[in-house]
Amino acid sequence: MTFQVTILGSGSALPQPGRHFSSQLLTAGHECFLIDCGEGTQYRLLEQKFRPSRLRAIFISHLHGDHYFGLFGLLNTLSLGKRTEELYLFGPKGLGDILTEVFRHSSTRLSYPLHYHDLDADNPGPIWSTPTLTIHTLTLRHRVPCTGFVFREKSRARRIIKEKITLDMTYEHMRLLKEGQDVYDKEGKLLYTYEEYTLAPPKPRSYAYCSDTAYLPDLVPYLQDVDLLYHEATFLDDLTERANKTFHSTAAQAARIAEQSNIGKLLIGHLSSRYLDSDASLLEARSVFPNTFMAAEGVTFEIAAQ
Ligand SMILES: [Zn+2]
Ligand SMILES: [Zn+2]
Repeated sequence: MTFQVTILGSGSALPQPGRHFSSQLLTAGHECFLIDCGEGTQYRLLEQKFRPSRLRAIFISHLHGDHYFGLFGLLNTLSLGKRTEELYLFGPKGLGDILTEVFRHSSTRLSYPLHYHDLDADNPGPIWSTPTLTIHTLTLRHRVPCTGFVFREKSRARRIIKEKITLDMTYEHMRLLKEGQDVYDKEGKLLYTYEEYTLAPPKPRSYAYCSDTAYLPDLVPYLQDVDLLYHEATFLDDLTERANKTFHSTAAQAARIAEQSNIGKLLIGHLSSRYLDSDASLLEARSVFPNTFMAAEGVTFEIAAQ
């Protein structure tokens, strides 16, 4: 099953050529999710040749404009495209009111059901479950209520070893084996053991998204062993004071969170517009956590099955 993240935008508050506002597309099998929706996100989706009708849900981390000003346009375009499939939207308190007002003043009636859910940034926990994933929120530390998201694959059934299937094996036998149960006949005689006839399922994969936040070691227990972590890295370490004051992180701080959480791979982004290229940020993060990459526009990061 595909499990991947495509970076649509990774800029910070000020527009810059080549760096778009925050947005990411998460694909898990047939399910597609948008995480944040900065201005222009729908153009980035077009560039990716992504059919927006495939979107199942949108998650908005907080109400700073660089993370959601693209939402109005995208929701409107989906309606102009005569979408009928329901769409789920999770966002901070206030977003529902904002959308209601925008649609009221523009006499917009969406062509599809939009299920909106308020997120309580102070009460993190599970918010949703789909056929492939469970989604938990994290409390981030920013100037306005801000939520992180952890997407975890559900554990799957054991896999039958095809070469070992016999003509006597029924569908029910296979179901039990896949569940990790041994199979007995009516007299109680052991027919098949799950250990001999199946392989363990692949390890469930996980992705965590920590948008704008001050350095927050409290996150570490919630991020343990995540395969791929996106963490903002607005400043370099010489501007730690400024990072603290504006509730952002430095590249080294992002890397420290990754290292302490024992994650697989770190993506950094949301660089301040003062940094014209990302080399220094990457170097700084890699000095603490070597397996760090830039969340560069248009790049897809796949999380391989193990
Ligand atoms: Zn931001
Ligand atoms: Zn922000």
